[in-house]
Amino acid sequence: MSKMKVVQVPKPGADFEIVEREIPEPGAGHVRIRVQACGICHSDVMTKEGLFPGISYPRVPGHEIAGVIDELGAGVKDWKKGQRVGVGWHGGQDGTCLACRRGDFVNCANGKVCGISYDGGYQEFMVAPVEALARMPESLSDVEAAPLMCAGVTTFNALRHGGALPSDLVAIQGIGGLGHLGIQFAKKSGYRVAAIGRGGDDALAKKLGADVYIDSAAMDPAAELQKLGGAQVILATAPSGKSMSALIGGLGPNGTLVVIGASSDPIEVPPMQLIVGKKRIHGWAGGIPTDSEDTLRFAEMTGVRPMIEKYPLLKAADGYARMMSGKAEFRVVLTM
Ligand SMILES: [Zn+2]
Ligand SMILES: [Zn+2]
Repeated sequence: MSKMKVVQVPKPGADFEIVEREIPEPGAGHVRIRVQACGICHSDVMTKEGLFPGISYPRVPGHEIAGVIDELGAGVKDWKKGQRVGVGWHGGQDGTCLACRRGDFVNCANGKVCGISYDGGYQEFMVAPVEALARMPESLSDVEAAPLMCAGVTTFNALRHGGALPSDLVAIQGIGGLGHLGIQFAKKSGYRVAAIGRGGDDALAKKLGADVYIDSAAMDPAAELQKLGGAQVILATAPSGKSMSALIGGLGPNGTLVVIGASSDPIEVPPMQLIVGKKRIHGWAGGIPTDSEDTLRFAEMTGVRPMIEKYPLLKAADGYARMMSGKAEFRVVLTM
């Protein structure tokens, strides 16, 4: 079998290294995917720095994959060679734990994460279990589809389960890798969209579909949301518990702060602020492959697309550094 180029993390905290490996054979219940594009997500830091328990090294990061099935393992029936697929964070479930028996695969007690439990998309070919596969529409390009497999499904799925109805006020906090997709998904879902940024993001926010722009550096975003009647949903994408705490006062009655920006500093709220108006704080984790399929279909139907910067696979270290700098606009995508 011929060789392939692989970008791996040799041990926690080490630099990326480019190596050649044998192209892997898929085992039973698995497929081999020819990777066409792979987004670089901030959560790849977990693999790079060893922040997720139980990772074995060397490990290949990457959980925003768009590719084509290239080989089928034993027993794989419902997938075909040549079929376009995506793989995201949810890398498979055991199907037997209590959560799985209840059909709640995202909460599988033994869930696998692509790029953490097994090698992900920073390579020319990868092997994935069929439970991790999402069918991908033909009309989406690989580089545009890849970021929808994590950033896209996370924002879309969080919004559609947030409890807002069309015409309700929905605020998107942060205009970055998650937020720029959140604004688009919210607008196309029929919400009245308030984008909360810092400084001069006004024109960009409006271009993405925001009806209102709130500059949190110049005004109190909670007070501004209350002037608009209070938000039914605030999608908090900026990884800062402190900045999320400052938004809770912007919720309307029965409103929900939906938390998708991962940070370790606490969200602080006086209990009375939640009790009056029956407000909620709700954490949200991406979704399963069928959620990704819904995300891809919705993007295809409505024209929602990520804004991307492309790097070739062998420049993965540069692409990762660009993502970590916080200056990328807005998703970095590796091309093969
Ligand atoms: Zn991700
Ligand atoms: Zn399970």
